Amino acid sequence: TIGVVVLDTVGRIAAGTSTGGKGFERIGRVSDSAMPAGNYATQYAGVSCTGIGEHILDECLAPRIVVRVTDGMSLLEAMQRSFDEATQNQRDFGAIAIDAKGTIAWGKTSEVLLAAYHNGEKMDDTLELPDDP
Ligand code: ASP
Repeated sequence: TIGVVVLDTVGRIAAGTSTGGKGFERIGRVSDSAMPAGNYATQYAGVSCTGIGEHILDECLAPRIVVRVTDGMSLLEAMQRSFDEATQNQRDFGAIAIDAKGTIAWGKTSEVLLAAYHNGEKMDDTLELPDDP
């Protein structure tokens, strides 16, 4: 997966998610990446997800985080709360997110998921991050 979340200079937020799927899918399966559950943005926050699409759909992960931010929760708390719930449910996914203040956050439930950032704060010191491009 390649996911991206952006905040532009006039405050617009967008999220994008590109995926090859999880492999060996049944014919007709539609990835979460093509649905709001896995890729969602409003004026308050944007979220892009990766991982097991069925788990992301079950958790309705991207809108769950965005709605929490819309209701006044900080992005970091919204991510933390959503990931805590997901971990209890033994879900396997990751997400990157941005809010209207430019706060950047990411989380993951698996070591094989990676994240990087440009022009933001480092949120997860377990990751090896590349130099700014
Ligand atoms: N979420 C995708 C799917 O389940 C897989 C991925 O690209 O992370 O189709």
